[in-house]
Amino acid sequence: MTVTQDKHITLIGAGLVGSLASIYLGLRGYKVDVYEKLPDIRLEDIPAGRSINLALANRGIRPLQQVGIMDQVEKLLIPMKGRMLHDEAGELQFQAYGQRPEEVIYSVSRAGLVSLLRDEAEATGNVTFHFKHPLVDVDFDKQNFTVEDAMTGKQQTLSYDILLATDGAGSPVRQFMEAAKVGSFSSELLEHNYKELTIPADQAGHFQIEKEALHIWPRGGYMVIALPNLDGSFTVTLFMPTDNGEASFANLNTPEKVETFFQTYFKDAYNLMPNLTDLFFDNPTGVLGTVRSEKWFHGNAMIFGDAAHAIVPFHGQGMNCGFEDCAELNTLLNQFDDNWEKVFPAFNEARRENANAIADMALDNYIEMRDSVRDPKFHLKKSIAFE
Ligand code: FAD
Repeated sequence: MTVTQDKHITLIGAGLVGSLASIYLGLRGYKVDVYEKLPDIRLEDIPAGRSINLALANRGIRPLQQVGIMDQVEKLLIPMKGRMLHDEAGELQFQAYGQRPEEVIYSVSRAGLVSLLRDEAEATGNVTFHFKHPLVDVDFDKQNFTVEDAMTGKQQTLSYDILLATDGAGSPVRQFMEAAKVGSFSSELLEHNYKELTIPADQAGHFQIEKEALHIWPRGGYMVIALPNLDGSFTVTLFMPTDNGEASFANLNTPEKVETFFQTYFKDAYNLMPNLTDLFFDNPTGVLGTVRSEKWFHGNAMIFGDAAHAIVPFHGQGMNCGFEDCAELNTLLNQFDDNWEKVFPAFNEARRENANAIADMALDNYIEMRDSVRDPKFHLKKSIAFE
């Protein structure tokens, strides 16, 4: 029997974490209104934002199993059984993640996963999404928030019982908490950026490199990785310094330089990327950073997911960690009989250290991944890329 909760939930941000959180809350019997600044990717062809695909690992799978949607998620997954290292001569070295068949991670499309999560949230009968409705203000003392209808520009101020914010690394709600001096927050940008490119499927629609692997081209100060997509393509990501030296985004400012750079250092990948320079200059250059927050709640409002603890992607754990947040929140709601006053501090306590630890490991792992070319045997044993 579904229980109906007396408190209403306002959720800001319908990304991966907010969409999963709304399933948990809808299943608990909460009426949830989710405000999202972007259009709905299920209806409009918009960029998925950030990475096109991601590595899903056990930490992220357990919550998906818990809400009972793993059967549908499985249709979106491609197993990656290990890393395939590419050296400059195009020699390959495969390293399995483990000996047992279950020791794999999975490549999943961000747009596909978030669409499924939103469908499942709506299927609870308790969750309503309001797309193109950015949050523009929160008043924690008066317990109200203001959203804008992006189509009309009209703003509306509404009160909240519980406000949860999963509004991402640049979280406006976190910024309002900072302004309210809730605790200490830090945001550190990495001096490396990223660019997404594509290795398309061949003419018959087949994968052009090993399908069931996470490919890495480690080159010391920079690297390229590639994850498979269901349509036979690979999403390729170049990670490189922003503005320091030959291998930097500042230096690669003409099609000729981009061609020469890829031909020289990533020859086997270069040969599979016919649209390299178009994509390089058409696609945005993404920034990477680490967010740490001491106190995640203020009154009846709380941040989690990237909003509280964005990390660099070199462990492939940002989404996975955010999914774990959702499961932990549910556990604590069980433990404290939905008494949010008790849940907020317990959640903060339970998750903060984990989040800080994975943030540090992700920063360290960038060096491991891009350096593994120098001493492949040592680093391959030690390297823990993306799991
Ligand atoms: P987001 O996905 O950022 O969602 C936040 C949502 O809030 C967005 O929909 C946004 O539009 C909305 N929003 C923002 N402001 C407002 C506002 N004012 N009002 C209303 N809505 C608002 N993680 C992994 O686990 N595995 C990986 O392999 C992996 N690879 C990555 C590769 C790259 C290049 C990057 C950059 C990240 C990667 N991550 C990976 C991390 C992962 O993308 C994030 O951890 C994850 O997206 C966090 O989800 P979220 O819902 O907290 O935030």
